[in-house]
Amino acid sequence: MVEARSARQQAIVIIGAGLAAATAALALRENGHLGAITIVGDEEHPPYERPPLSKDFLMGKSAFDRAVVAPVSWYLEHDVLLLKGCTVETLDIDENTVHLVGGEVISYDKAILATGARPRVLDIPGAESARTLRRLEDSKGLRNAFASSSSMIVIGGGWIGLEATAAAREVGVDVTVLEAGPRPLQRALGDEMAGYFAELHRSHGVALRTSTDVASIDGTGPYEVRVGNEVFKADLVLMGVGAVPNTQLAKQAGLAVDDGVVVDEHFATSDPDVLAIGDVARAHNTALGTSVRVEHWDNAIRQGKAVAKVLLGQDVAYDWQPYFYTDQYDLGMEYVGYSEPSNDVVVRGDTSSGEFIAFWLDGPKLTAGMNVNVWDVNDDIRALLGHSVDRDRLIDPDVPLSAVAYGASYSLP
Ligand SMILES: Cc1cc2nc3c(=O)[nH]c(=O)nc-3n(C[C@H](O)[C@H](O)[C@H](O)COP(=O)(O)OP(=O)(O)OC[C@H]3O[C@@H](n4cnc5c(N)ncnc54)[C@H](O)[C@@H]3O)c2cc1C
Repeated sequence: MVEARSARQQAIVIIGAGLAAATAALALRENGHLGAITIVGDEEHPPYERPPLSKDFLMGKSAFDRAVVAPVSWYLEHDVLLLKGCTVETLDIDENTVHLVGGEVISYDKAILATGARPRVLDIPGAESARTLRRLEDSKGLRNAFASSSSMIVIGGGWIGLEATAAAREVGVDVTVLEAGPRPLQRALGDEMAGYFAELHRSHGVALRTSTDVASIDGTGPYEVRVGNEVFKADLVLMGVGAVPNTQLAKQAGLAVDDGVVVDEHFATSDPDVLAIGDVARAHNTALGTSVRVEHWDNAIRQGKAVAKVLLGQDVAYDWQPYFYTDQYDLGMEYVGYSEPSNDVVVRGDTSSGEFIAFWLDGPKLTAGMNVNVWDVNDDIRALLGHSVDRDRLIDPDVPLSAVAYGASYSLP
């Protein structure tokens, strides 16, 4: 009789070769996993981090090498088979196999879906002529195009659209942002802080148009973007209207999908041998008491590390409050927590100084905080999340953050 393999010896296939996938592989080896690890990714590069693609790399200030999660030598030295430029076509959860385009079949004891997300594209005439920004090639292409362009239209005032806007302004390209909502980032930050970002961009010469409904894109460069009776013209068009999780494999395999692959707090899908992490996963977060799909860098890392421990039999649950950062012009910010649009916003410091902390509150309870050009406070804000706080003390810069919770009896992690 063949004995079942121990957790440490199991064959693991990771589908997708992004940040979540690579972090999981690193963490598996660091935590003593001995079995086979195969990563299958459809890009031609080793796993890399995407944030520089809309920031330093896009401006030509950093090289790709700095974005890779681990050098290629790491995969060789740690006996991790990295299959680049290979697409997984199907996942067979009855046979525990993944099937690659080209016919190769890989068996697994456990599979991790880390297929990330792809740019959402508006269903309008000419949409295919707009650029999107997700992969290294997209960023390289846009960077090269900046050199011979004087103007860009950005459709969508979300994080990626605004970061690309800032990068374009830094290299002297005029930008018009066409945002569907009344303010950019409205859904993420609410009226007041979204207004702050709107002013930031306007003060850098960006033509920001809000409540716009883009109807079509014409031309092959220069382009004409139609909004109602108005036509906006530019050398480049970038579409940044959000991302769609790559759930095709999960759906076809019959796994539960609901705007993301549905997983429990241990990243298990509806099939116990398949787990999902990163942008593609809608995971139950025990700290929030709800399921969330988080499209952030830190989430890919945290879930990559956590899933490795889960696979090695450790009792680890997804309880990490979401964290996000952005860099735009000379603004650097970190956001931690999970707020609802109905939450109140209060500010410690003066927004006009460009250095402040915004807090989101549900009644007396702190749900999120955002430090703008104020550093080394994010852990303090994290420690306050979920606690009832004294608003007057919260916004008083002379009161340490560690002393604003009612009955403060917590310690920093
Ligand atoms: C331009 C840009 C800037 C960003 N900036 C920030 C930032 O400032 N701060 C922040 O917190 N977050 C930022 N993010 C978000 C962050 O990069 C993502 O949350 C993170 O990349 C998610 O990692 P992932 O591994 O889950 O998915 P991905 O990075 O998307 O990796 C998934 C990989 O799987 C591959 N794949 C999909 N299907 C298959 C298949 N069938 N077979 C083989 N391979 C497949 C995909 O091609 C991709 O290579 C940014 C994202 C982008 C695009």
